[in-house]
Amino acid sequence: MELKAALKTTPKYIKILADAWITSVKDFLQYFPRTYEDRSTIRNLNELIFNEKGITATKGKIVSKKIFMRWGRRIYDINFVDPIGNKGQITIFNSWFLASKINEDKRYIIVGKPIIKYGKVMFSHPDVVETEAPEDIRDEEQGTSEQDHVPNPNSHVPEVYNSGRIFPIYPELMGIKPGRFAQKMRNLMDKIDTIFSEYLPSEFIDKFWLMWVQETIKAMHYPDSFDQQKQANLRIFFDRLLRIQVYSLLNRSSYQENKTNMDGEIIQRDIIKEIISWLPFTLTNAQKKVLKHITENIHESKPMLRLLQWDVGSGKTVVAAVSAYYTYKKFWGQSVFLAPLEVLANQHYKTLAKLLLPLWLRVALLTWSMSTSEKNKVKLDLAEWRIHTIVWTHAVIQEDIQFKQLQFVVIDEQHKFWVRQRAFFKRFWAPHILQMSATPIPRSMALAFFGEFDVSIIDEMPIGRKTIETKIISEKEYIKLKPWILDHIAKWQKVFVVTPLIEESEKLEDVHSAMNEFENIKSLYPELKGKIGLLHGKMKPKDKEVIMQDFKTWKICLLVSTTVIEVGVDIPEATIMVIKNAERFGLSQLHQLRGRIGRSDIQSYCFLETKSKAGDIWKRLKAMEDTNDGFTLAELDLQNRGAGEILGTMQSWESDIPLEILSDLKFLEKIQEWAKWLLEKYPKLQWLPGLKKYLEEKMGDVLA
Ligand code: ADP
Ligand code: MG
Repeated sequence: MELKAALKTTPKYIKILADAWITSVKDFLQYFPRTYEDRSTIRNLNELIFNEKGITATKGKIVSKKIFMRWGRRIYDINFVDPIGNKGQITIFNSWFLASKINEDKRYIIVGKPIIKYGKVMFSHPDVVETEAPEDIRDEEQGTSEQDHVPNPNSHVPEVYNSGRIFPIYPELMGIKPGRFAQKMRNLMDKIDTIFSEYLPSEFIDKFWLMWVQETIKAMHYPDSFDQQKQANLRIFFDRLLRIQVYSLLNRSSYQENKTNMDGEIIQRDIIKEIISWLPFTLTNAQKKVLKHITENIHESKPMLRLLQWDVGSGKTVVAAVSAYYTYKKFWGQSVFLAPLEVLANQHYKTLAKLLLPLWLRVALLTWSMSTSEKNKVKLDLAEWRIHTIVWTHAVIQEDIQFKQLQFVVIDEQHKFWVRQRAFFKRFWAPHILQMSATPIPRSMALAFFGEFDVSIIDEMPIGRKTIETKIISEKEYIKLKPWILDHIAKWQKVFVVTPLIEESEKLEDVHSAMNEFENIKSLYPELKGKIGLLHGKMKPKDKEVIMQDFKTWKICLLVSTTVIEVGVDIPEATIMVIKNAERFGLSQLHQLRGRIGRSDIQSYCFLETKSKAGDIWKRLKAMEDTNDGFTLAELDLQNRGAGEILGTMQSWESDIPLEILSDLKFLEKIQEWAKWLLEKYPKLQWLPGLKKYLEEKMGDVLA
């Protein structure tokens, strides 16, 4: 059925809907209410409930309709009586459209927020639907004609859909009002059975006590009870999470179809021992444990898919480097390190070069700011196996790259990258993937969004790390910090001043706030002269690099920056961070930022500057004072601000799944189990055309 015909609406609305990706009746029916109102009882005027929420329905017959002008506005005064004779009034300002729907001598169900004015019950701009005269009062009325007593089957009087039931309230869409959705949806209710068909096998529905899909869609729009609505809601989110799980599992098995040649070989611990002996420190037990996971994976017949998470500075990069070395020594495999930013690529390059060059590995860097001839040289060396470990930024993946023997890929931070580039890696015989994340993700969420990965956690910081002291301060206190800050700079410590940035795509105003602060600081700290730097996202990569380099080499000792320093930058002497307008950041992000300091055995300090003392904000920031544990903060974020906060920093999708579901680990574990069950029975999703089609549309070539 065509949407336009089904909705009997204008091209203008069809266009608005299309812009919101609603192009079929099926899509339309999946535009769900934002909330519901209990309009199940229709009351007489003397029984109405007057309170804040106060939505009530009454029935009235219009006795008069007057128009008058006041201050250039057209006002409609409409009087009605309820079935037992109480008088009420409807007021409408300047809306000819609404007023034209209400006519004398007709009866309407009137829904709205009643108030009492001049002793009369009044509704302003109510929702009205025409109705027939109720049986019980017809006889009492005088002068009613014969006609009124016989229900007319061809009557044009529409169904009363706006009351006598739980009523859906839709999110407004570019001027399409909630009430209009309610009406259009109502008209489609009896078509649902022909539009939707169950796409899960019936044994599955029975096994897990799910509501059928047709019933679910009906109950989402016009539920018989709130309980039924809840069941329907559960089914909707169940489906979405199930799809994500099925999708993840399919991806996993599709990626792991490629067999590795590493099977049957025994693990050579001496290789690990050799490289560890080169390190300037001893590995923590947690690092050793994760290395064990990884080497075991490397020796399996299918490629590894592992997510390594824990806070910044816990030593993930070292673990990745040791693993890359192992792959090379044992199987002559090449490895790639992917960094989200050029600054980080440079840093990884230096770390890896320092570690691996003395061990006779060739390490190289490939970034998009290199010249074409430089790039070509690196590419040729890669293809001909003169390079064993390469570091590049995500942008480089567009380039035409060849490997001789790619076996190990480390992706730092961005998960989205993996989602997009699976196919790329599959082309290179599906190397092992180590996805690293310094955004601590609550376990339930890791399960929901990283279902295809095995998870390792480095839950231990290197010995000697001090916890960062964190303090909320006012603007005044920030100014007063000056001598203290200068004192620390004199002791060879470095300072970050971070100004807020909300989106990753650096907005101009955020750049301005960094620039302003830069000017501020310059006049506040004349003592530091040229030793103050500025870093923001609008700068050219080369310039950023220069600034970071200057910060490392002491040309700069105080760096004003937006959040571009967020991920992974390692400057051990940076021990002080001031975060301006800290209330504008989520806890996960604050924690990430704070992770830039505290990277050595010197005591570090983080100051959260805020003008706001509002209870909620204070409480949130207080959590930063109280704990250095990223997982605790991530859980808090999940509870307070929703998954978007955490997903935002990882740039994932599906962030509107309700919190109570996303933090319900048991439920999510069950869904994963069920997804496995489903795929065992229907490995290629045969008999599940609906699910198959959905996955292909939304998620691409997974089933290819
Ligand atoms: P991450 O990638 O998790 O943020 P890194 O691997 O960059 O952390 O490590 C942060 C810093 O800690 C580096 O300077 C690294 O050399 C150092 N480091 C790593 N592991 C240890 C350890 N076991 N003991 C002491 N220092 C360590
Ligand atoms: Mg790192």
